[in-house]
Amino acid sequence: MSDRLLKGIGVSAGIAIGPAIVVRWTLPEVPHRVVPRSQVTKEVRRLRAAVRDVKRHLAVLKERVEDRASVDEARIFDAQILMLEDQEFVPGIEDLISENHLTAEKAFEFKALEIRDMWAGTGHPRLKERIADLIGVTIRVINHLMHRSEDLWEGISSPSVVVAQELSPGLTVQLDRAHVVGLVSEQGTRTSHAAILAHSIGIPAVFGLAGAIERIHPGTMLVLDGTRGTVLLHPSPAEIAEAKALETRRRALTLQLEQVVEQPSVTTDGCRVRLRGNVDLPDEIEAARRHGAEGVGLLRTEFLITSHSRLPTEDEQAEYFRRVGEAFPGHPVVVRTYDLGGDKFPAAFQAPPEPNPFLGWRAIRVCLDEPEIFRTQIRAALRAAAHAQIQLMIPLVTRLEEVEITRAMVAEEGIRLARRGEAAAASVPVGVMVETPAAAVLADRFAVISDFLSVGTNDLTQYTLVVDRGNARLADRFTPHDPSVLRLLRQVADAARAAGKPASVCGEMASEPLSALLLLGLGYEVLSVAPSALPLLKWIVRQVSLTKARAAADAALAARTADDVMAILRDAMAAAVDLKLLDPDARLPAGRRSASLNP
Ligand code: PEP
Ligand code: MG
Repeated sequence: MSDRLLKGIGVSAGIAIGPAIVVRWTLPEVPHRVVPRSQVTKEVRRLRAAVRDVKRHLAVLKERVEDRASVDEARIFDAQILMLEDQEFVPGIEDLISENHLTAEKAFEFKALEIRDMWAGTGHPRLKERIADLIGVTIRVINHLMHRSEDLWEGISSPSVVVAQELSPGLTVQLDRAHVVGLVSEQGTRTSHAAILAHSIGIPAVFGLAGAIERIHPGTMLVLDGTRGTVLLHPSPAEIAEAKALETRRRALTLQLEQVVEQPSVTTDGCRVRLRGNVDLPDEIEAARRHGAEGVGLLRTEFLITSHSRLPTEDEQAEYFRRVGEAFPGHPVVVRTYDLGGDKFPAAFQAPPEPNPFLGWRAIRVCLDEPEIFRTQIRAALRAAAHAQIQLMIPLVTRLEEVEITRAMVAEEGIRLARRGEAAAASVPVGVMVETPAAAVLADRFAVISDFLSVGTNDLTQYTLVVDRGNARLADRFTPHDPSVLRLLRQVADAARAAGKPASVCGEMASEPLSALLLLGLGYEVLSVAPSALPLLKWIVRQVSLTKARAAADAALAARTADDVMAILRDAMAAAVDLKLLDPDARLPAGRRSASLNP
């Protein structure tokens, strides 16, 4: 990569061309000053007034986001407002003023940094975003107390690309799109609040670009590509023209993606590929339907537990499964039984701490040890199956008897419901989620005793390569393109075909265009992905041929390294699709987690 081309994380798609403006949104220097005892009450009053004004300002920003983005994104500001309303936070600052005679701004800074250090010390990834919120609100209150202007965008008069160390959501939403055409931030990832807002407002952005402030001097001409996550410094006229042409081609693709929803998902040589949606939370049902999902290939059910302080009842679950099923008439909805454990233990469930939770009491193991919880879920699925095509899928299977016991329970609960006189199916198809090496190696036997196989490539990759899927340090090693994972994938597809059972893939891998090509070639004709990935996936399916996908898969199976596999797939895809339209360097996500699943 040329030293003019910097690589970060593309967090908001699109191309921006313009000179750099470097802004600093950091804590201002707060002078240490002690106030006389007689002024303590005045300082407390000053603090309260500033907090009140900032809260009002945040409420205004929230409304602005509701207008420019959505109600969901506007909630980002609630976190900051709530901090200022916390029972201990502001009162603690008042105590600091009264006891140590600090100025309001010094006391605020002191308290905020104390909390920041405490949170940072826990190393908890979720607290990172809270720290960003805390610092954002602190900068705002201190600027207000010190009568400093907040509006960093004021001086920008011509279209520019803003370069910052870190961008707060508040600053992002105040952007004037006529003048700020792109954003570069040293900090932040796709899930940072500022990134989410940049995406909603439609400003191309590259985050996580370490050293940006040092490398990019004010006034440097830039071409920012928010799809590929790159920033090109000092572009030549030819490079600028190329970037503009690429943007035009991408716009054309966007239009095609809107139309593709209505078109069949068939390869150029006539292979029909079923594309289903992965649904974690109820609001994704509509998104999956809108994007043309042919049913739900993975209905995660953990939110039913994590979003309540108690376990969900049979009625609640039956109603939910029926609702999802009825949203996809004529198509299957695959209910994955509770995949608790690992990183997903809800408060309602008193699980003992374990030294190695990902190798511990997880998923089907928990369900079989807690049969009443499991049987309740099975009954709910059977009841919903009276109205829709419901199927059950068992996660983290390693032993044949886990499937056999589950099937016996399904049969028993079918009889129990019939005795109750309840409208319910006597049984439902039961599938195995192949996401452990044990299940993949024994796929031929699992295929015989189950109704379908669905590969969870997130966990299958993690357990095969012994790479924690959530460990950023190992992100380079987390790849389903490793030859070992590829062999397992082929073996599972072959085993299903030999037994005459359908095989699908529902891990994140399926949503990535190059991998989708590989999976088609390996023999998977059902893919289930996050709803937002469906249009591009269908478009890809319609550009490629099964014959070429098979040839690419065969070549990939013979390759020595994951990089070689990527090169093979890139070449195969380039023959069908303009690769620059995609983000070929994108890291595969290790598995999306809905917010409600983590503490
Ligand atoms: C998987 O492991 O690939 C999968 C789809 O399940 P989850 O990401 O919920 O563990
Ligand atoms: Mg899994």
